[in-house]
Amino acid sequence: MMSLKLGFVGIGRMGAPMARRLLAAGLDLTVYDPNAEAVEALVRSGAKVGGSPAAVGAAAEIVFLSLPTPDIVQAAALGQEGIAEGGTARIVVDLSTTGPRGAKALAAGLLERDIATVDCPVSGGVAGAEAGRLTLMAASPQDTFAEAAPLLSHFGKVTHVGTEPGQAQLIKVINNLMSVTALAIASEGCVLAQKAGIDPAMLMQVVNSGSGRSNASEDKIPKYVLTRSFDFGFALGLSAKDVRLCLDEAEALGVPMIVGSAARQLLTVAKGELGPEGDLTALIQPIERWAGVEVAGGKGGA
Ligand code: NAD
Repeated sequence: MMSLKLGFVGIGRMGAPMARRLLAAGLDLTVYDPNAEAVEALVRSGAKVGGSPAAVGAAAEIVFLSLPTPDIVQAAALGQEGIAEGGTARIVVDLSTTGPRGAKALAAGLLERDIATVDCPVSGGVAGAEAGRLTLMAASPQDTFAEAAPLLSHFGKVTHVGTEPGQAQLIKVINNLMSVTALAIASEGCVLAQKAGIDPAMLMQVVNSGSGRSNASEDKIPKYVLTRSFDFGFALGLSAKDVRLCLDEAEALGVPMIVGSAARQLLTVAKGELGPEGDLTALIQPIERWAGVEVAGGKGGA
């Protein structure tokens, strides 16, 4: 294991802390990202530099991806300067959220190049990535999973959810739709409380020992909304992508998602107002503007 060569393509908000955990464990890691600052920061932590995804695929047997969209993942793995061109990679572990169709296309394309894939999205945000406390869901053949699992344990707790690519992605996009829907309704609840003269921090406190609690009421609203820091670290554009991937799958399978569609509309409005790089927790801001109030800051910081 000590001499195993690893690679990482996409060292953004999630990828960088995960890559740092591999380096901290003394593993050999070559990284690529078009953002030079992100690469320099990891080099200071001991990473080697690959000049392209192909260079990482030449240096490493197992390559991790943490990239924004299915198209970017496909290009980084199988495009002109892609990982498959490198000739050394045997396994690609895709930690990005790409949806079931993206995962199937990636695995099929890589299989043609004799490269196995672990469809392995993650949940738990930047804080979870930094602490090594992510929830990982993996879909891959058993032998590939057996090889990847000890490495994935550096990132958090991993569950092998199936052997078909796309199975983990479906679980992930359902998780994210449920998560953003909880944030949307908790945000509406806070704005209503504020307008009625009730302290939203107190609302969250009561809800958290009642039946309305969720990750939004326990974590996102107290830490990132009531403090008005809006720095949870997940972009509105990426959340909108996840919700689209889930609703696309629901439509393809003939499953109505009325509540999910409403959450999508709110995300579309927030993304339009705040831009795709706006933080997910700032989703409350358009609701505040429509209601003509701002939830009080500084009271609910966790
Ligand atoms: P990010 O935008 O911070 O990072 C993406 C990185 O990919 C950036 O450093 C960017 O420079 C790089 N990149 C862009 N195009 C590239 C290319 N062609 N080749 C190589 N690198 C390229 O995004 P993030 O928040 O780190 O999310 C990464 C993935 O993880 C996404 O699929 C997202 O949905 C998922 N995710 C994010 C979170 C979160 O809380 N941020 C949680 C779970 C899953």
